[in-house]
Amino acid sequence: MEKETASETTSYKDSVSTISKEGKRVWVYPKKPKGRFTSARTAVAILLLLILVGTPFLKTNNHPFMLFNLLERKFIFFGLAFGPYDFAILVVGFISFAIFIILFTAIFGRIFCGWICPQTIFMEMVFRKVEYWIEGNFRQQIALDKAGWTVEKYLKKFFKHAIFFSLSFLVANILLAWVIGVVELFEIITTPPSQHFSGFIAITLFSGLFYFIFSRFREQACTVVCPYGRLQGVLLDKNSLVVAYDNVRGEPRGKIKKNEDRKNGDCIDCKLCVDVCPTGIDIRNGIQLECVNCTACIDACDEVMVKVKKPRGLIRYDSLQGIKDRIRFKITPRIISYSVVLLLLVSLFSYLIATREDIEVNILRTPGMLYQDQPDNKISNLYNFNIVNKTFNSISVTLKIKNLDAEIKLLSSDLNLNPIQVEEGKFMIVADKKVFSKLNTAIFIGVFRNGKEISSFKTSFLSNMKFN
Ligand code: SF4
Ligand code: SF4
Repeated sequence: MEKETASETTSYKDSVSTISKEGKRVWVYPKKPKGRFTSARTAVAILLLLILVGTPFLKTNNHPFMLFNLLERKFIFFGLAFGPYDFAILVVGFISFAIFIILFTAIFGRIFCGWICPQTIFMEMVFRKVEYWIEGNFRQQIALDKAGWTVEKYLKKFFKHAIFFSLSFLVANILLAWVIGVVELFEIITTPPSQHFSGFIAITLFSGLFYFIFSRFREQACTVVCPYGRLQGVLLDKNSLVVAYDNVRGEPRGKIKKNEDRKNGDCIDCKLCVDVCPTGIDIRNGIQLECVNCTACIDACDEVMVKVKKPRGLIRYDSLQGIKDRIRFKITPRIISYSVVLLLLVSLFSYLIATREDIEVNILRTPGMLYQDQPDNKISNLYNFNIVNKTFNSISVTLKIKNLDAEIKLLSSDLNLNPIQVEEGKFMIVADKKVFSKLNTAIFIGVFRNGKEISSFKTSFLSNMKFN
């Protein structure tokens, strides 16, 4: 049997880096990262945080630009209101989004986790920075946690957790602003809790949840809970772009010794890439579920490579195939097929959005009913209708028969539609018996708004041949 080299050792696959052999949590104290990737990620994080905080304040036509009110099933995307009646669009949109994620992951691996995921951004760019600021870098944090309780330790811990809870409260408020809008949120904040008990409970619960996640649970959210992380095994292939250690170049690893004629690879086994890892793993063991592609190890290793006068990129964005064959990234048949499906779905989604009408009308002759006799030698048929007003404005519409001398008598609605409302009701079509020459006559009903026809609907009218 061949002896395993350090890079081929697979024992790390039998354990989780943040759980000890005794099953206890191993607390991760990552070294503060610095470098060009960290700077770029900080810039992206600031931009995304501004979008996250600022978007609920954006308005179009006096309504939120974006709203995800799951409780009341009200959704606004880029100023367009969607509701349960837009089920087809929402399904196509959701499938397109899922395919996009799959395609994106197949090509770019977990780039989303490292650069865009709110968990990583809040944890690494907000909460962790507060921790570095108050408790110092990783060695000082370890020393502080090991030390006995002094006034300094009490103060540091108190201030850190006070800021953590305040930030969690802020995050909970931002989340709620996306769900209910800033106006309602402001009302909840400025009135006594007794008047908005459910809102008050929601803010308190979410503040507590975020505080727990960012102060205690931390990287476990990515390594234990996140379903996207769990899916990496099926979404990634050997051509996917990931943060990877170039074992061809780096191995056999070994420390630099003075005046040696170095025969080893470029890895000097300084373990700085492990020190900076927020999930506590050693990237040199290969792709691991716990790696959130945060790029901290790239920066750490690049700094080392510069110091030992070797090219940067011993740890870099590359594919496993690329590292093995020394070739750059290439497009695979899987990527092409995902792209075609995505393109078709996006086209369908765009078509549905482009042809989406402000008002949707459905008219159905009441099932199981024949005609009804009316005074003055007239007959009628009964119809059910529903009209959806998908706009933010109140709208009045009228219904008119276009192809026959007949009138519409509304039974249960005045057709004054409130914003984002589904109006349901019944009406009768009443006409002279002699108007109908057939048992079943096609009827065209026009829907008019401000005298202008906005849609037309075909239905039928049941009569009796004996009338003529
Ligand atoms: S291995 Fe590197 S990229 Fe992956 S989580 Fe650790 S530091 Fe980040
Ligand atoms: S930082 Fe680079 S040189 Fe140092 S142990 Fe990691 S891979 Fe090796």
